[in-house]
Amino acid sequence: MAEMMKAAVVHEFGKPLVIEDVPVPEVRDGQLLVKVVASGVCHTDLHAASGDWPVKPSLPFIPGHEGTCYMARVGRGVKLAKEGHRVGVPWLHTACGHCEHCITDWETLCDAQQMTGCTVNGGDAEYVLADPGYVGRLPAALDFEAAAQVLCAGVTVYKGLKVLDCKPGDWVAISGIGGLGHMAVQYAKAMGFHVLAVDIADDKPTRGSIVGTRADLIESLAFAGDGLVKSHYSTDRLDSINDIFERMKAGNIDGRVVMTL
Ligand code: ZN
Ligand code: ZN
Repeated sequence: MAEMMKAAVVHEFGKPLVIEDVPVPEVRDGQLLVKVVASGVCHTDLHAASGDWPVKPSLPFIPGHEGTCYMARVGRGVKLAKEGHRVGVPWLHTACGHCEHCITDWETLCDAQQMTGCTVNGGDAEYVLADPGYVGRLPAALDFEAAAQVLCAGVTVYKGLKVLDCKPGDWVAISGIGGLGHMAVQYAKAMGFHVLAVDIADDKPTRGSIVGTRADLIESLAFAGDGLVKSHYSTDRLDSINDIFERMKAGNIDGRVVMTL
């Protein structure tokens, strides 16, 4: 009989997710199977589960792209990865590695990319498959819960700040101090900028960067590992995902929610 795991599964867009037992995915050559410890909940998960985009994920699927994990099984041919290593599985599950975007620091725009929790199953489950080339090693000083939102919110704002034409000592304005903005303020300070924080009710941050590359992920995790950026979050359980989505829709989440498994 197949080994089973608990997962939050989207069977129908806009309907409650079903917490159910599904088979643990089989690790193929060149892949990793990781055991999820914490999984951050992002607005993108709600969009994916609601079918809000013109190109929708194929049903059924498991959302989640802020999973922090232990490596559980390493597929044949994988180098530099050992069972027990702590990693994060971000939105960018994999990319082709050789197109114009991939070789010019814009792999997040690769046409052949796969997205965790969207085109491939995500981290709202006890196990998830990952591409060893695209996971981020977690700094030893950063715990699983605190690392979770660096994988999306953190790397996204870090990338946005990194590509600004600004030097240390310059002023940057950060608009919208919510889940992303509160991290942007800290990254900006850690990068040596002066920060003007602007928060207008009903104003949503305009998302100027699409997550980040593997290099951006390593760098943004390093800032958090050095204690320069601290995420503001509360913890909850995977079983509460529908309630978390309801609170998210109502705008009743302070910072972010990280589910523990
Ligand atoms: Zn996200
Ligand atoms: Zn590519």
